[in-house]
Amino acid sequence: MIHHLDSLRQGFEVDADVVIIGSGAGGAVAATNFAAAGLRTVLLEAGPQISAKDMTRDGPAFMARHYWEGGLRLLRGTGAWPTMSGRILGGSTVINSAIMFPLPDWVREDWAAADGLDALRGPELDAAYKRVFARTHTAPTPESVFGRRNVLTREILDHAGLKGAPLPRAVKGCEGTGDCLTGCAVGAKQSVDRSYLPGAVQDGAEVYTCAVVHKILMDGTRAVGVEGHIVDPDGHAKLARFTVRAPRVIVSAGTLHTPVILKRSGVTAGGRVGGTFLAHISSFAMGVMNHTVDPWIGATQGYGAFSDRVRGLKFESLWAPSALIGGQWGGVGPDMYEMLPDFKRALMIPIVYRAKVTGKVGIRLDGMPDAQLWVPNEEMWVVLSELKRVVDSMLDLGAEYVYTGVRGVPPKIRTKEQAMSLLSHDIQARDVTMTANHTFGSCRMSGRADRGVVDVNGKVYGTEGLWLMDASVFPSPSAVNPQATIMALADMNSRRIADLDLLATA
Ligand SMILES: Cc1cc2nc3c(=O)[nH]c(=O)nc-3n(C[C@H](O)[C@H](O)[C@H](O)COP(=O)(O)OP(=O)(O)OC[C@H]3O[C@@H](n4cnc5c(N)ncnc54)[C@H](O)[C@@H]3O)c2cc1C
Ligand code: SF4
Repeated sequence: MIHHLDSLRQGFEVDADVVIIGSGAGGAVAATNFAAAGLRTVLLEAGPQISAKDMTRDGPAFMARHYWEGGLRLLRGTGAWPTMSGRILGGSTVINSAIMFPLPDWVREDWAAADGLDALRGPELDAAYKRVFARTHTAPTPESVFGRRNVLTREILDHAGLKGAPLPRAVKGCEGTGDCLTGCAVGAKQSVDRSYLPGAVQDGAEVYTCAVVHKILMDGTRAVGVEGHIVDPDGHAKLARFTVRAPRVIVSAGTLHTPVILKRSGVTAGGRVGGTFLAHISSFAMGVMNHTVDPWIGATQGYGAFSDRVRGLKFESLWAPSALIGGQWGGVGPDMYEMLPDFKRALMIPIVYRAKVTGKVGIRLDGMPDAQLWVPNEEMWVVLSELKRVVDSMLDLGAEYVYTGVRGVPPKIRTKEQAMSLLSHDIQARDVTMTANHTFGSCRMSGRADRGVVDVNGKVYGTEGLWLMDASVFPSPSAVNPQATIMALADMNSRRIADLDLLATA
C-alpha cells in the first residue's frame, strides 16, 4: 500500500523485517526484491507521489516542487555548479532521461582490480543487468521519435568523425515529447515508480511518502530501525514523527543524502563516510543553426557517441524545458527576451566526462548536504578540446553561432578561428558552465575495510544489519549514465540478503 500525507498527519510507529530509506533507482529495486521474498518491507520516501497531472511543462515550477532544494542545489569547491536530484516517489528516475548503459568492461575491471571487488567479475552482476534491462523495457531509441534535433545531432557528430548510435533508454511507447526532465505525462518512461514499485506494493510492501528519515537507530554497532518526520509535500514543515523498527536497514537516499543520514546516526567508518565524493564533469555546445530545429520535439536524449580519442568521454543530444535552458544560455530579463527568437533554431550537445576529480560531502547548518568537488584544470581542458570538435562541426553544418557558456571565449562563436579560444590554457575549470547530475562515491565500496565504507555486498563495515544501495557506493565514476548500474547492484545485493536466486533470468 502507498501511504500519502492525508493518512500520515499523526505520524506512525511500525515494525518490519526490512526498512529502506529512499525510493529511487537503488531503493525501489531493493524493496521489490524484499517484498517478493515475503519479507515485511517498509519503504520510506521524503517526497510525495506525483502523477501525470503534476508533470507540467512549466519547468521552474516543477523543479521548485519536485527537485531537492527546488533544483537550485549547488556544489562548492572549484565552481558553483548545479547538481540536481528528484524528491519524489521514484527518486531521480522520475526526472531523468532514462538512458541505460551497463558499466563498460574496462570500468568494471578497474573496480574489481583496483578496489579488490573481485566478485563484480562474476555472472551474478550480468544476470542482474539482464533482469533490470528486461523489466524497464530498455531498447535503443527508435528513429521515429528522433525529431529534427536527434537527427541533426547525429549529422553533427558524424561530421566530427564521431561514430554514434541511438541511446538505449528505459521507455515503453515514448512519443518523443522531450519532457523527461519534468517526468513523463505520457506514461512512457519506465522510471522505478512505474516499472518496480507497483510490483512491490502488490507483494505487500508498505510505502510511506512525505517521510523524511532523520537518523538510523543504532544499538551499539547494530542497526535496529529508523526515525524521522512526516513533512508537507514541499518538504518545509515537519508535521509528525515516525519510527520504524527493523533488523535490516537499507540506505538508498542517493549520493548526497546517504552520508548525511549515516553521519547523523554516528556511522562514520573512520571518517570515510562523506570523505570522498565524485561526479562526471560536463560542458555543452549550443548551436543556433541557419534553419528551424524545433528542439523541443524528439526524445529528450535520443542519440549519442563515445569519443574515439578520450576514454570515458561521451557526447549526447539533450533538450530540457526552454525556461531552464534559457536561464543558463540567455540569462534572464531583457537578455533572455533577446534570445527568444533563436530558440527554435537551437541545438544542444552536452559532453560528459569521467574526469579524475576529488570531493567530500558534509552537513550544512540547515541539515542539507554540503558537497564540494574539485576539478583540475587539465581535466577540464580535455573536455574543451573535445567540445571544439562539436563546435567546429556545428559551424561547418550551418550554425550561425555557437554558445558554450565558457568564460574567456566569445559568447557567440561564429568562426573556427574564434573556436580556437576553447583550447586556451588560460581557461580555468571554474570558468566552465556545467551541471553535475551524475554523482557518486560518497560512501565508497571497497574490498578493504580500511579503504571503503561498504563491502562488495553493500554492507557497511563495522556494523550489523546496515547496507547501502545507491550511487554513493560507486568506487569511481561509471563513465556512462549510472542508473542501470545502481539498479543492477541493488538488485544483486538485495537478492543476496533476501535469499533469492542470483542467476534468475526474471
Ligand atoms: C536531470 C537528470 C537527468 C539524468 N539522466 C540520467 C539518465 O538518462 N540515465 C542515467 O543513468 N542517469 C541519469 N541521471 C542520474 C540518475 O538519475 C541517478 O544517478 C540515479 O537516479 C541515482 O539513484 P539513487 O538511488 O542513488 O538516488 P535517487 O534516484 O536520487 O533516489 C534517492 C531517493 O531518496 C530520497 N531521500 C533522500 N533523503 C531522504 C531521507 N532523509 N528520507 C527519505 N527519503 C530520502 C530522495 O527523495 C530520492 O527519492 C540523471 C539525473 C538527473 C538529475
Ligand atoms: S521523450 Fe517524452 S514521451 Fe518519451 S520518455 Fe521522455 S517524456 Fe516520455
